[in-house]
Amino acid sequence: MVRAAVCTAVGSPLEITDIDLPEPGPGQVRIKLAAAGVCHSDLSLTNGTMRVPLPAVLGHEGAGTVVSVGDGVTHVVPGDAVVLNWAPSCGDCHACSLGEVWLCANALAGAGAVYARRASDGSDLHPGLNVAAFAEETVVAANTVLRVPDGVPLTDAALLGCAVLTGYGAVHHSARVQEGETVAVYGVGGVGLATLQAARIAGASKVIAVDVSSEKEELARRAGATDYVVASENTAREIRGLTGKQGVDVAVECVGRAVTIRTAWESTRRGGRTTVVGIGGKDQQVTFNALELFHWGRTLSGCVYGNSNPSEDLPVLADHVRAGRLDLSALVTEHITLNDIPSAFDNMLAGKGGRALVLF
Ligand SMILES: [Zn+2]
Ligand SMILES: [Zn+2]
Repeated sequence: MVRAAVCTAVGSPLEITDIDLPEPGPGQVRIKLAAAGVCHSDLSLTNGTMRVPLPAVLGHEGAGTVVSVGDGVTHVVPGDAVVLNWAPSCGDCHACSLGEVWLCANALAGAGAVYARRASDGSDLHPGLNVAAFAEETVVAANTVLRVPDGVPLTDAALLGCAVLTGYGAVHHSARVQEGETVAVYGVGGVGLATLQAARIAGASKVIAVDVSSEKEELARRAGATDYVVASENTAREIRGLTGKQGVDVAVECVGRAVTIRTAWESTRRGGRTTVVGIGGKDQQVTFNALELFHWGRTLSGCVYGNSNPSEDLPVLADHVRAGRLDLSALVTEHITLNDIPSAFDNMLAGKGGRALVLF
């Protein structure tokens, strides 16, 4: 029996309760979690913006230690430090055949399974986004389990599983920021902070952080921001002012709201690139007129999980960590327990802080 945070239904408060996990079957791994980050996507599952079968144990940004493995699992053994990849690729679908594993059609195929039971009444529980990391222990498919590279502390490694792959990938895979380019990052949460660090690593000449709160300036500057703009209706104009009236080469939107996406796009130069990382709802309509699309010659792209291939990107990220270029602990503004996740959601909605990290 282990403690877990369960989303019982859309709009209901999280239930912190005991669950019973099975021993790992063939192709499965049981993991004792060390840490799990609270990501905006967890909140999106509780409010219905994103949907998975419920009731489900949430949490998808986790790292821990292998407890036991089922038949056929050979790439990890008990005692190994591992990070969870919530979107494993199948290798068979059209996207996978093109090497676009972040778009795998079967990435969430495991979310419908019954993987555990509520201890109180034996009722079925689903594994949220595959890995159910808001629990002291979890049982997952082996293809979600990646070994933590040497030199990365286990609790920090949790962040690699979502926020850092996403922010780093937005800069390096989606926007492909080149040395000397100027970058604006909208939204200074966990992903935004990872994006700022990635822009610094890419050698951006100017990194402008934009947030609705004036209180995140120091956090943003520590992550590599050279300039800080408090969001207003003048944001795009302010950014043009900071870039010789041109606009930035690249904007990364980490919020998922129509007004922010539109502002990000407007803040780029003619021919600039905007990458949208934030996950918004269907009610967020972004409008463009035909003439401006032609005139500005800009690119607007969506970005899923940083367009990353976790097994290829983790070793690169670990190199940056070991060299001191990537500071994972700088993303974390709060260490919490499972019981504190609802208040971490409240902080997220209020736009406060960076990543909250659950420690087990
Ligand atoms: Zn996430
Ligand atoms: Zn696939």
